[in-house]
Amino acid sequence: MQLVFATNNLNKLKEVQALVPQHIKLLSLKDIGCFEDIPETQLTIEGNAIQKAEYVKEHYGFDCFADDTGLEVKALNNEPGVFSARYAGAQRNSNDNMNLLLKNLEGKPNRDAQFKTVIALHLNGKLETFTGLCKGAITTTKQGEKGFGYDPIFKPEDYNKTFAEMVMEEKNRIGHRGKAVRLLVAFLNSI
Ligand code: IMP
Repeated sequence: MQLVFATNNLNKLKEVQALVPQHIKLLSLKDIGCFEDIPETQLTIEGNAIQKAEYVKEHYGFDCFADDTGLEVKALNNEPGVFSARYAGAQRNSNDNMNLLLKNLEGKPNRDAQFKTVIALHLNGKLETFTGLCKGAITTTKQGEKGFGYDPIFKPEDYNKTFAEMVMEEKNRIGHRGKAVRLLVAFLNSI
C-alpha cells in the first residue's frame, strides 16, 4: 500500500517510517511533487491535521495522512498549542521559539506541559483521526542535541532527561507522535 505522509520534515518522516509496517510505503510531499506550503489556518491542532490531509487528497488525489503537533503549557493557558511552530514569529525558528517559551515561564513554579499530536487519515473516502499525548515538564535550560523543535526543553514525565537526550527509538516509544502513529498503524492493520 502507498500512502502519502503530508510532510517534508525528514526527522518526522524517519520517526514515522520506523513505526509503520514495511508493506506500507510512505511517500513524502516531495515524492508527489507538492512543493507549496499547505494551508494550516485552523484554530485547533485537529483542524490543521484534517485541513492538510484534505488538501493533499483534493489537489493531488492521493490517500494521505497528515499530522499536526502542539506543545501545551499549563501555566500559559495551554499556549503555544496550535501556534507552536510560529510562537516567536513567522520565521518558525525552533531556537527563537524555545527562548520565548523559557522567558514566558520565568518565575512560574508550574512548568507542566504536554505534547499533543493529531494524525488525520484520508483513506477510501473516509476521514479518521488519531491522537497521541505525552505529559511532562519544561526545563529551565536547553539540554541535549538530538531530535528537533522543542525537544531540548521538554522532559517527559518519569524521565530525568529531555527528548533531545534520547535516541529516536526511546522518544518514539513514549512520545506523542509514536502513540498517534501506533493508533494509525493498528487501524491500517485492521482494515
Ligand atoms: P508541526 O505541527 O509538526 O508543524 O509542529 C509544530 C511545532 O511543534 C514546530 O515548531 C515543531 O518543531 C514542534 N514539534 C513538533 N513535533 C515535535 C516533537 O516531537 N518534539 C519537539 N517539537 C516538536
